[in-house]
Amino acid sequence: PQTADAGLLHNLNPEQLAAVTLPAEHALILAGAGSGKTRVLTTRIAWLLQTGQVSPGGILAVTFTNKAAKEMMTRLGAMLPVNVRGMWIGTFHGLCNRFLRAHYKLANLPQAFQILDTQDQLSSIKRLYKQFGVDDERYPAKQTQWFIGGCKEDGLRPNAVVARDDETRKKVELYQLYEEQCQREGVVDFGELMLRSYELLQGNDPIREHYQRRFRHILIDEFQDTNKLQYAWIKMLAGTGAHSSVDGAFQPTGCVLAVGDDDQSIYAFRGARVGNMADFVREFGVQHQIKLEENYRSGSNILDSANALISHNSKRLGKNLRTAQGPGEPVRVFEASSDFLEANWMVDEMKQLVREDVERKEIAVLYRSNAQSRVIETSLFNAGMPYKVYGGLRFFERAEIKNALAYLRLLENPRDDTSFMRAVNFPPRGIGARSLEQLQDVARASGCALSDAVSALTGKAGANIGAFLAGIDVLREQTQGLSLRDIIAATLDHSGLITHYKADREGADRVENLEELVNAAESFVSIEGFGRDAVALPVDELGQALTQSPASQGLDLNQPVLDMPAPDADTGETLSPLAAFLTHAALEAGDNQAQAGQDAIQLMTVHASKGLEFDCVFITGMEEGLFPHENSMTDRDSLEEERRLMYVAITRARKRLYLSHSQTRMLHGQTRYNLKSRFFEELPEEALKWITPKQSGFGGHSSGGFGGGFGSGYASHSGATGAYPERARGQFGTDYSKYAAPVPPQRQEASGHSFKVGQKLFHAKFGEGKVTALEGSGDDARAQINFPRHGVKWLALSVAKLTPLP
Ligand code: ATP
Ligand code: MG
Repeated sequence: PQTADAGLLHNLNPEQLAAVTLPAEHALILAGAGSGKTRVLTTRIAWLLQTGQVSPGGILAVTFTNKAAKEMMTRLGAMLPVNVRGMWIGTFHGLCNRFLRAHYKLANLPQAFQILDTQDQLSSIKRLYKQFGVDDERYPAKQTQWFIGGCKEDGLRPNAVVARDDETRKKVELYQLYEEQCQREGVVDFGELMLRSYELLQGNDPIREHYQRRFRHILIDEFQDTNKLQYAWIKMLAGTGAHSSVDGAFQPTGCVLAVGDDDQSIYAFRGARVGNMADFVREFGVQHQIKLEENYRSGSNILDSANALISHNSKRLGKNLRTAQGPGEPVRVFEASSDFLEANWMVDEMKQLVREDVERKEIAVLYRSNAQSRVIETSLFNAGMPYKVYGGLRFFERAEIKNALAYLRLLENPRDDTSFMRAVNFPPRGIGARSLEQLQDVARASGCALSDAVSALTGKAGANIGAFLAGIDVLREQTQGLSLRDIIAATLDHSGLITHYKADREGADRVENLEELVNAAESFVSIEGFGRDAVALPVDELGQALTQSPASQGLDLNQPVLDMPAPDADTGETLSPLAAFLTHAALEAGDNQAQAGQDAIQLMTVHASKGLEFDCVFITGMEEGLFPHENSMTDRDSLEEERRLMYVAITRARKRLYLSHSQTRMLHGQTRYNLKSRFFEELPEEALKWITPKQSGFGGHSSGGFGGGFGSGYASHSGATGAYPERARGQFGTDYSKYAAPVPPQRQEASGHSFKVGQKLFHAKFGEGKVTALEGSGDDARAQINFPRHGVKWLALSVAKLTPLP
């Protein structure tokens, strides 16, 4: 049965082919970037299906983003005539959501439970703080949020946390209160999605066995970034370890294919454990470990750069990566004098690329921190260049969208206190903070939801809030039976949000986004197949029926399974399209926004770029303190993670890679003077092409001038590296000198003093300061000096009276 259509396999090299056609056993593919790991994973699914070894319902595949999941389904749909919806392909969160929706009763959740994103979670915690008078200074809400997330990742409920000190005890208490609040409101956070589905599998033998039997093949991409709980979840589903067999009669047969690259592990800060790879090999008794060594993505200049860089890390499993593509273009390096000029240069370069017929969506700008995108966006906007920002404030996370979603969520569930608080007085309708506090007091005293407490409120406060709720009730009535699109339109209308933003001079974008929400609903309908196309499999029955007779209930694996679970067996109630849409909004928030089809420049953080590829990539802000990030420069492990991030960034490029840094940068309202990133020193000189002249020795790390009140100073130049070429021209004949900074010579002799960068000094008017740059010579010599009290000044050394300080 294992002969497949050659078309499926002919595009694979021998190692890839071996991986795709592995026998049904646990296996690990450990391979570098661009070696075809994701392609192998997708093709293996297709091969398993085509050779009849498994039906779509027997596949569970975990991808890193929703976008990747969709892409995988699209590819599979193109390769095979199968119903891709029958396969469980998605992110961990998406899959757990699907699982909990199917078994909401057993999971002790309301059918239409809503998902709290990170922001919602924080405001939910802050609400608790208010209610219980918790001091936010002493126990910052963000830390509590972090603590709760960490506990959940470790699979720990409040009663299982061992608290050795008062602070931890307090946090555990808050964790407990938070859980009660979420349960009361019928909401779950991201960590809860994972933990609750894990606990359900763990505690319910028939359910667990059912899924263990069902998922014959479990495939996980980006395995290096799984956390402890995710690993345990996989283990549980595969039936390895403690839950392998209930009574010895049933042996689970799920095969796990884990695919990853230790060099691309970049989520340690979020609990990812690269050690899961070694654990996997040991605990699953993995016999097949496959290495893929040919990179199909980039030329050798790009690849050599990536390899050279990552070789500076000590903790590596060790892999090789080569390319058959020849050198390709050199890696271009650009130095600007300000972030603004860096962005302008980039946009000019992009225009040229577009003139050369590069598609805009094949051009990506990567940065280490979200805050960097603003200046780039401004330049792109001014140039009229369409662009799209991934990450950062994503569509579904924007304030106006969240405001609208709050109304929609209240339609679904009036007990959702987070949404209640968000919507009740926005747009303003004269409900004061005092009234709301009163309401919260009542709700707390009687342990009910805010909306249930309103009737106990007297006077004007009660009347106003009562009117708000009555309005929501009427809206709920009126929108019964309407299409999703019409429900959203009616809700926007009712909420007054559009009118509110229209009255705001700067609200035009927000109005547009709200209108986009209606469009999002429309495309959601067609993608998710609500309405006519919806085929609902009685998924919930599985749990119910299996509990009674495990053996008799087989599942027809060829039947399509939709994300929309079946009607409730008792009441016939189904999840409404609105509830499904709201779930989608919460889960999708992490991914890309609307306008998927548009040909636009792609902006994203390096973290968000994992797994993607583009013809042309710009990595910007290659500066000490930025990349590597300032929080990561002091200890070796964090620095290695930064280097892996850089490795991810470099390996996204197919044809052309640009690295740029700037001497000054406005960040968080301050001008910073950054040294060139140390990563430049780790790249092979032969692979690079310096668009602006290379400053040798620039960026030495001995100066140690970081983190001081001055930001970081320039390192001194070692030797005069030659004059700046009068008109430096790039390969397009661009005059680059307009973006770049003049080259400061190493030392200045002036006023009888010899100054160098980093020198502290005193000025009669501006007080103490520190030299951050030098320029010119003789009478023209000038120094850029950062005076903490007066800001940055350029002073002529022949005039200014400066006293050097030790
Ligand atoms: P990453 O580590 O970045 O996730 P990856 O190992 O998953 O990378 P893929 O994205 O699967 O790599 O593949 C990289 C590129 O190489 C893709 O464009 C893919 O189509 C192409 N590719 C993979 N294998 C082959 C092959 N045998 N022949 C031609 N192209 C291939
Ligand atoms: Mg991949």
